[in-house]
Amino acid sequence: MRKRKTIIIRDPKLRRIRNNLREVLIHEIVKREEKIFARKKKILYDEIGRFHDLNDKENNEVQRLNLEFRDYVFLLRDSICFCQGCRAADKDMSYNPTLKKWYCIDCCKEFQEEYKERRPFRIQEDDWDWNTEIFYRSFF
Ligand SMILES: [Zn+2]
Repeated sequence: MRKRKTIIIRDPKLRRIRNNLREVLIHEIVKREEKIFARKKKILYDEIGRFHDLNDKENNEVQRLNLEFRDYVFLLRDSICFCQGCRAADKDMSYNPTLKKWYCIDCCKEFQEEYKERRPFRIQEDDWDWNTEIFYRSFF
């Protein structure tokens, strides 16, 4: 998605449906991540819980599982299910095309206000670099 987009749902019934759908998606991804974790544990440890050296086949399988796990982490992180600012899963969201992530409208407002407040002083602040500037500007 290239453009900024804000999705606001005012109808309480539709909000509940949206929130339930997000919960289902989050739950499914967490379930898949747990399955991957369990499969890795089975490969990495023996029956009494001792770590053992991996053969090539086991090593490849662990690497594959790590990549699969990472894909699910990124999938959830970049989805509309979570606000990247406050981690809320039940709010109206706005897509930030610069950061390619979704933020709730409350966080967007907060970042805008914070930028305006800190703007006059930002050159003097040690923690203010170009990445911080790009981050805050992306909310306007
Ligand atoms: Zn938020």
